Amino acid sequence: MNEIEKLQKLIDSSNDIVFFGGAGVSTESGLKDFRSKNGLYSIKNLKYPPEYLLSHECLVKNPKLFFEYYKNNMNFTKAEPNVTHLYLKQLEDLGKLKAIITQNIDGLHQKAGSKNVLEIHGTTYNCHCEKCKKQYHGEYIFDSKGIPKCECGGIVRPDVVLYGEMLPKEFELAIDYITKADLLIVAGTSLTVQPASSLIRYFQGKNLVIINNTNTPYDYIADLVINKPLGEVFSKLH
Ligand code: ZN
Repeated sequence: MNEIEKLQKLIDSSNDIVFFGGAGVSTESGLKDFRSKNGLYSIKNLKYPPEYLLSHECLVKNPKLFFEYYKNNMNFTKAEPNVTHLYLKQLEDLGKLKAIITQNIDGLHQKAGSKNVLEIHGTTYNCHCEKCKKQYHGEYIFDSKGIPKCECGGIVRPDVVLYGEMLPKEFELAIDYITKADLLIVAGTSLTVQPASSLIRYFQGKNLVIINNTNTPYDYIADLVINKPLGEVFSKLH
């Protein structure tokens, strides 16, 4: 039995599956992985690091710069779900997959039709007015000129968790789901960025599977480790 067949067997025999995904889930939809060799963070000629450009401090002190960077780099409205997103949607429909926990902010799981998606870093899919809290579709920011404004005059900002901001309530929910899961599939993340990577420590179930291009610090506790591109793995599952 090869490793993909082993994964299929684990999926077939589990009923409380939780999927925990990182940037690697979306790279096959043409999105850049922030931290990989060719990712956004590797662009060295930026005057400011992305950690500043996507921080609450930048939004408040230099909104022009914030929105310029945000509009140029965080517009995923034309991206389409790939085979991994679509497989997970099927698995949710079967009642086997209880939750998708994602570090991604691209909204592609919702676009694939998945319902229970916990976005622990928020989403570019929606935005809201800082002042009156009125909600807008994410495209409102990308369609705006300069600094996007609400009808009340407040700044309209993305529902993304910026550097320097607290984690959303989804993080607590994610812990709940992971604690109750019988199979946890971790995919497309190097598990090196805290606090997201610490989520894996809450797992008490039977089988932990890690699928990633490179090794992760948690491979030693996994029951199955697959070092293959996600598309290659998920296109063979049913
Ligand atoms: Zn407003």
